[in-house]
Amino acid sequence: MALIVQKFGGTSVADPDKIKAVARRVLKQQQEGHRMVVVLSAMAGETNRFVDLAGQMQDIPDPREMDVLLASGEQVTVSLLAMAIKAMGSDAVSLLGDQVKINTDDRHTRARILSIDQEAINHHLDAGKVVVVAGFQGVSEKGEITTLGRGGSDTTAVALAAALGADQCDIFTDVEGVYTTDPNICASARKIDRISYDEMLELASLGAKVLDIRSVTIAKWHRVPVQVRSTFTNNEGTWVVEEDKSMESNPVSGVTYNRNEARITVSKVPDTPGTASKLFTPVSREGIVVDMIIQNTRDGNLTDLTFTVPRTDYKRAMEVLKQVATETGAEGVSGSENICKVSIVGVGMRNHTGIATTMFDVLAREGINIEMISTSEIKISCVIDEKYTELAVRALHDAFNLAE
Ligand code: ADP
Ligand code: ASP
Ligand code: MG
Repeated sequence: MALIVQKFGGTSVADPDKIKAVARRVLKQQQEGHRMVVVLSAMAGETNRFVDLAGQMQDIPDPREMDVLLASGEQVTVSLLAMAIKAMGSDAVSLLGDQVKINTDDRHTRARILSIDQEAINHHLDAGKVVVVAGFQGVSEKGEITTLGRGGSDTTAVALAAALGADQCDIFTDVEGVYTTDPNICASARKIDRISYDEMLELASLGAKVLDIRSVTIAKWHRVPVQVRSTFTNNEGTWVVEEDKSMESNPVSGVTYNRNEARITVSKVPDTPGTASKLFTPVSREGIVVDMIIQNTRDGNLTDLTFTVPRTDYKRAMEVLKQVATETGAEGVSGSENICKVSIVGVGMRNHTGIATTMFDVLAREGINIEMISTSEIKISCVIDEKYTELAVRALHDAFNLAE
């Protein structure tokens, strides 16, 4: 008898028929003798709808109230699945974040899981029930509802699998697994059979939203083997596992893009010790995460600082920076929300040379200007104009022979 955690994303529970299909799939596994814990997202589109509604009430919605609103989407799906399972003659119980208890810190809309109580879940599993847990939500020490950030249901699932010592963690979604690039924008994308935690971490952090990055961090840390697979077929998906030698044979494993960032330039900053700290400290105090940073020296002891921030934080970052820029004597702050970061990722990059040059050549051949570049041991990223996203992704995918 195995303990299996299965997570179903928004498209898997998008309507009553799909929820019934999930119930059948879960019950089939339970009837094979397994203890089943199911984690659900809200119905497809619901969380976006809530974000939109909140925006109609307040320019920057109150984070506590936002979490009360956002968590409601998962409350709907878990209760419906429990009902569907009962209607099929079996037993199930739905549990919200504070009923499990999924304890988090109190950073509303971006909370981190601190611990998970196993007692309630084990009690219901012992009673033979399917336990249906609301993804994406938790409870703070003060008893407030928190959410884990967009895509957070993956994190709930993997964290539960780790806490419960599950034998398997399946992430059911609308594609057959992790692909060499987003199959929805590149028809020749190929499903990867096995991918290392580190490559998956890079892919997730660089825009492959098929798995939430924090879920991969937890999986790697606790060595939870995760399978990403389709909710609409019975095919084997992609296993996210420890790295092995065979994974190094190709220099590039995948191409990603991220349209959720914005670029900001603080120009003519006095080039003196402490200025970068003066500029970035107020930004980080606002909880805004700065990503790529480039400094260009100009004549006359001046420098330009260009960096990226999440697009949702762009307006707030601009407000903060305009204020500190004046204080530091910088000339001005400008930026663009219409950028895209395209990246290539692969553990094989460690042993192959010329990969960056190939990437730059490919973009040049397509007439695409590179605005920023950053590299790490297993990835190269370039910021380009957003309108060239698809073109860049397809050209890179072809150039590195990733197609079927
Ligand atoms: P869910 O609602 O099930 O969590 P998501 O929409 O969050 O699903 O993630 C699945 C989507 O991720 C796919 O529909 C696909 O468009 C996108 N995606 C981006 N990059 C990749 C990739 N490399 N492999 C697979 N899917 C990807
Ligand atoms: N419903 C949340 C979202 O859309 C969490 C998730 O689906 O993972 O971001
Ligand atoms: Mg998702």
